[in-house]
Formats: sequence, C-alpha cells, structure tokens
Amino acid sequence: MHHMTLAEIARGLADKKFSSEELTKALLARIAQLDPQLNSFISLTQELALSQAKAADARRASGESGALLGAPIAHKDLFCTQGIRTSCGSKMLDNFKAPYDATVVAKLAAAGTVTLGKTNMDEFAMGSANESSYYGAVKNPWNLEHVPGGSSGGSAAAVAARLLPAATATDTGGSIRQPAAFTNLTGLKPTYGRVSRWGMIAYASSLDQGGPLARTAEDCAILLQGMAGFDPNDSTSIDEPVPDYSASLNGSLQGLRVGVPKEYFGAGLDPRIAELIQNSIKELEKLGAVIKQISLPNMQHAIPAYYVIAPAEASSNLSRFDGVRFGHRCENPQNLIDLYKRSRGEGFGAEVQRRIMVGAYALSAGYYDAYYLKAQKIRRLVKNDFMSAFNEVDIILGPTTPNPAWKLGAKNSDPIAEYLEDVYTITANLAGLPGLSMPAGFVDGLPVGVQLLAPYFQEGRLLNVAHQYQLNTDWHTRTPTGF
Ligand code: GLN
Repeated sequence: MHHMTLAEIARGLADKKFSSEELTKALLARIAQLDPQLNSFISLTQELALSQAKAADARRASGESGALLGAPIAHKDLFCTQGIRTSCGSKMLDNFKAPYDATVVAKLAAAGTVTLGKTNMDEFAMGSANESSYYGAVKNPWNLEHVPGGSSGGSAAAVAARLLPAATATDTGGSIRQPAAFTNLTGLKPTYGRVSRWGMIAYASSLDQGGPLARTAEDCAILLQGMAGFDPNDSTSIDEPVPDYSASLNGSLQGLRVGVPKEYFGAGLDPRIAELIQNSIKELEKLGAVIKQISLPNMQHAIPAYYVIAPAEASSNLSRFDGVRFGHRCENPQNLIDLYKRSRGEGFGAEVQRRIMVGAYALSAGYYDAYYLKAQKIRRLVKNDFMSAFNEVDIILGPTTPNPAWKLGAKNSDPIAEYLEDVYTITANLAGLPGLSMPAGFVDGLPVGVQLLAPYFQEGRLLNVAHQYQLNTDWHTRTPTGF
C-alpha cells in the first residue's frame, strides 16, 4: 500500500479497493517500524489520524468525492495545529501547543486529508541539511550517512522512504526544492502570496512560502490545489483565482521556450550534475521544447543579499520569543534582562542565535543603509533579471543544487559553506517566483534534481512541464533500498 501516490490512493479509495482507515493504519505501522532510522517525525498524531480517516470514509460512503478525501499526509512542524505541539524544530517551542490551525492545515483538513504527524525540520527553518533541529538530524533514506537537505528534511525523508505519499513544506530560500532534489522527490515553491502564511511560524516573512512535497508532479498538483487560495488573514495573500492544477498537466510542450542561464553552469557545479541537467534538457527537446541560452547577470550577488535580508527579518520575527508570552522560560529569572537573556540563550540553538545576531546588526542604525538597504536593492536587480528573461522564454531550467547531499556533519564547522549550497534556489524567493525541483538522475547513488522556474502564478506551467517529463522518464519512480 505504501508505494501508492496520492493520485493512485484517490483512485483506490473511489473504487473502494481499501478504506482510508486501512491505509492510515498501514502507514502508521510502517512509520513505527522504519522512522527510527530516519528521525523524520517530531510528533505522531495517531488518534487524530484515525478519527480523520474514519470521517473521510464516512464522507465517501455518503457520496462525497475529492482527490484529497482520505489521503494521508503530514505537516512540517511549523504549521500551527490546534492542540498539537508545533515546535518549529526548536527547544523554544518544545512545549507549545498551537491554539489554532494554520490556514493550510485547516484547508487540507476540510478537503479530507488525514494528518499522520508533524515532520522534523531545521530549527525555525534555518538550514539546508536538517541538522539544526532540537530533535536531532534527519537521515537521507538514499544513504543514511547523508543529509536529506533542509529545512523541510523531515517531510522529504518521510515521503522519499514511502512512509506517506506527500507532505507540506515551506521554502524561504530553497527548503522545498533542495530537499526534494536530495531525496528524489518533486517539490513546488509557489508564487509568493499564492499559499497563505497565516499560522505558518515566520522565519523571513517576505520570502516564506508553503508548498507541496511529493513523488510526482501530478501529486504536487493535487496537494497544491488543497493549499492555495486567498486568505484575508494574511495581508500578503493574493486574491487571484486558483486554476485547476491537475487540468494543466497534459498540455503539449511543443514550442515551449526553455531558458538555460549561462551563469548556472559556472565553477562550483559538480560536472556530473551538469551532465544530468544536459540530459534533462535533451528530454524536453524531444518533447518539442526550444532551448535558449539566457543570462541572469546579478545571480552572483544573490547569496550575500539573501543572507542579509533573511536574518534581518528573522531577528525581528523571533524577537517575540522572549520568555514572557509563550515558549521556553528560564528557571528563576533574577530580573527582566536576565529573563530575556537566559530564556533566549537556552531556547535557541547556535544557528538561530547566529542569524539573530547577523540580522540585528544589519538592521542597526549605523549599518542599515550599508547592508539591509543595499541587499534590498540587489533583490530588485535579481527580480529585474528574471523579468527580462521571461520576455524571451516561458520557463527557466537549471540544477537545483550544485552538489548532491553531503555527509552528516560535513559542513557543521563552516556555516558559509552550507549557505553557498543555496545558490540556485534563493533567487526565486528574492523575486517571489514559483519554482519546482524534479528528479533528474543519480550521482554516486544520491539523487539529483533539475529546477524549473516560471513567471508569477504559472505554477500550472511548471507542473505541466514536470508531468510531461515524468511521463517520459523514470527517475521519480526509483525507490531507496530498504524502504
Ligand atoms: N537554506 C536557506 C536558509 O537557511 C533556506 C532555508 C529555507 O528555505 N527555509 O535560510
């Protein structure tokens, strides 16, 4: 049962081949058996899952249908879930039970999904390896000595290991696409504003965006359909109609103009990945796509700009965790300053503290213009590069990451080495554009992803291209040994 995709599950449930309750029990048993190797869950929600599964079965029995009705999923542990621990991977929120559901959680529950649990993640979504979680590192099912990518590493490892068909995730600088690449999944970061951020614990509010992680583009379409839409509770949510993503999958790629930026193939890219990306380009050409070389000249400035803007916003967002209102509070504070200092010092891990300090520095009176304002100007240049590229092409294609998943611990002593791995993903967040990563092959037994970027609100185009590619390739069907 565990090999089924969301689309297959929907058909099986509709044809009464099995019930959501049976499927849910089977997956919970599989998680209990296999997750100790991976550490992909922070909390399991067995009781909730079984009651949601029974309710979904009852809705189907009374004639209701829907692609997500009875579908088991899990939520990254930064989506607030009412009455259930929502830890954000941090000691700070270890005992935090959210008083309400995030919009994404509520929408998916209304569509009939079954929540199996909350997935592990880098603390406050900061990281590219899922090693900064208070609950321990997540392992990559393709090689347990390697990282699964971050920050949505728990969602990725669980889906890749067939513990469940799909999960929610968030992407501030690559945290959906990069773990998708490292674990042989398909992951979509929607246009900024497409999916509500209400109840999604903030890292960097102008960059954060929720989206689906699944094995196929077809399944990403199904899950995104349940997540997307206007939300008056999120002032950056955009009031645009949500298209039928599944209906967009089957368009022809004849004449599709694919831009390949020359800057993506410079030094730093593993040549074996470069070759796999060239192969994926050839596949799209066979399907009728026309390839054009393009240039994104400001890409080289994106990492420094991102690593000023994201920490600046984080330092502001995380100031609410002060030991007074909620979250971790130190024992026996001597006075208010002691309360703040020790609560924050004990509650936040090293990477989060580093970013708060960098961000507070960049925002401070004497340095604001030199760092934060400058970074915002670079952000505009990055966006302008994309706007002129999209005058010439329909999508942009390149690698998702410069290297495959590294060994656990390999970059722990050098945070900047880890930041550099985000080179291909963060530009989409700076510009607010949608991006997708899909499986493109393997290097040393480790998965490699190809990234597609599209103009604003063209998620359907990304899913269409990925689906057509997946109809003609089988990388996405490969399963890690032992799972
Ligand atoms: N690796 C990036 C960072 O650490 C992106 C993380 C994310 O997308 N949440 O900020």
